[in-house]
Amino acid sequence: MATDSTIEIYCPHCHWEPDGGPHWQCRCGHVWDTFGTAGTCPQCHYRWAVTACPPQPGGCGVTSPHIDWYHGLEALIEELVEEAIPAPAAVGCTPHES
Ligand SMILES: [Zn+2]
Ligand SMILES: [Zn+2]
Repeated sequence: MATDSTIEIYCPHCHWEPDGGPHWQCRCGHVWDTFGTAGTCPQCHYRWAVTACPPQPGGCGVTSPHIDWYHGLEALIEELVEEAIPAPAAVGCTPHES
């Protein structure tokens, strides 16, 4: 019985849940917990759009979009994505006020 306020993080393929350990290595060589920084390397600040499921702690090794690991956030994510996408030029740049 999931509620809207419940946010879960687990692999979309095998449902492995991150245990807070540093299981991910950036291209710069830094090893950290990618879910502690939402996929951003704390050393070089590269933003990883995908996240691999680490086999060592029990994951399946499949690489998935980082966003797919979050469950229960769909509504919030859609909202953020819509805000992030610039409105088409034809619509104009005036705020939506009626
Ligand atoms: Zn890095
Ligand atoms: Zn997995």
